[in-house]
Amino acid sequence: MNNSELINKLASEHNLSDKELKIILETNKFDEELKNTADIIRKENYGNKVFVRGLIEFSNYCKNNCYYCGIRRDNKNTVRYRLDKDTIMLCCKEGYELGFRTFVLQSGEDPFFTEEKMCDIISSIRNEYQDCAITLSIGEKSKESYKLFYNAGANRYLLRHETASQNHYNKLHPESMSLENRKKCLFNLKEIGYQVGSGFMVGSPYQTTENLIEDLRFLQELQPDMIGIGPYITHNQTPFSSHPNGSVELTIRLISILRLLFPKVLLPATTALGTLNLKGRELALKAGANVLMPNLSPVNVRKYYDIYNDKICTGEEAAQCKNCLEKRVGAIGYEIVIDRGDVKK
Ligand code: SAH
Repeated sequence: MNNSELINKLASEHNLSDKELKIILETNKFDEELKNTADIIRKENYGNKVFVRGLIEFSNYCKNNCYYCGIRRDNKNTVRYRLDKDTIMLCCKEGYELGFRTFVLQSGEDPFFTEEKMCDIISSIRNEYQDCAITLSIGEKSKESYKLFYNAGANRYLLRHETASQNHYNKLHPESMSLENRKKCLFNLKEIGYQVGSGFMVGSPYQTTENLIEDLRFLQELQPDMIGIGPYITHNQTPFSSHPNGSVELTIRLISILRLLFPKVLLPATTALGTLNLKGRELALKAGANVLMPNLSPVNVRKYYDIYNDKICTGEEAAQCKNCLEKRVGAIGYEIVIDRGDVKK
């Protein structure tokens, strides 16, 4: 099979064999064609629209100890913070005025935010902003908790599986954490009725091409509505401080592959990509991505949600971020829209 045949097969069948995926993943010679084909498919489904989500990082306390993450429990150098409900509501207000119609509440796994507190926050946002989607990204919880949050008004849930290979998972996480449980959570969320987002880091320590193929296979099984991927970025106060960053090139290649495997899926151009490359998010948008997730958290706490080093946009007000993104997106021929940005079915 020549280059074009392989890409055509991926675009028309939305699948490839493991062997074919390995070929595409391990060379840059398909990149130009892959990217252009992904952009065509993205435009067939979403035109030149870019959906935005307002990200509210409301707590960086975490009971987990993932080896790659800067806000892991054992990082004693991180200044910990929590936003109270009033502050979260203010973030939403500012976001709404700026045109955001999705709010993403993200945090470490912080036991302070009990079911009751979360439901109170969710239902207040739901009451005030009936035309908005509420997305949670607060980690692994019981199915019962997920149901309560859903009934309180949450619509979507982001929980990256991080890696679908047992062996690789064990290298990234302490024994107290379980891949099986993380996968179970994702299926529970789907069953309850959430629009679900999953995903993985690209170039995390010890990752192989075979691991990436397993990630793609897991996503095919899960069939999520959104897939978030970004390069692994080293944080110098973690056990992985000596491991190199993941590759921007490989991340972009994977975004295009994901667009062709899942033509209608929502694909964010992540902040991690923008952190490693000044034009990383633009490259992603041109290669199949269609979502941006700027920060709505108060500027005074942003630098403390430091899951990796040198995270961008920690010093700007939300309005400045929105402005900057509008310009960036417009310059490459796409358009940020005021829309909940639900997945196409
Ligand atoms: N506690 C929530 C939110 C985690 S932060 C949860 O468990 O889902 C959101 C994402 O940041 C994680 O899912 C992970 O994929 C990513 N992340 C964490 N550390 C990172 C690092 N060093 N480099 C790149 N991405 C990282």
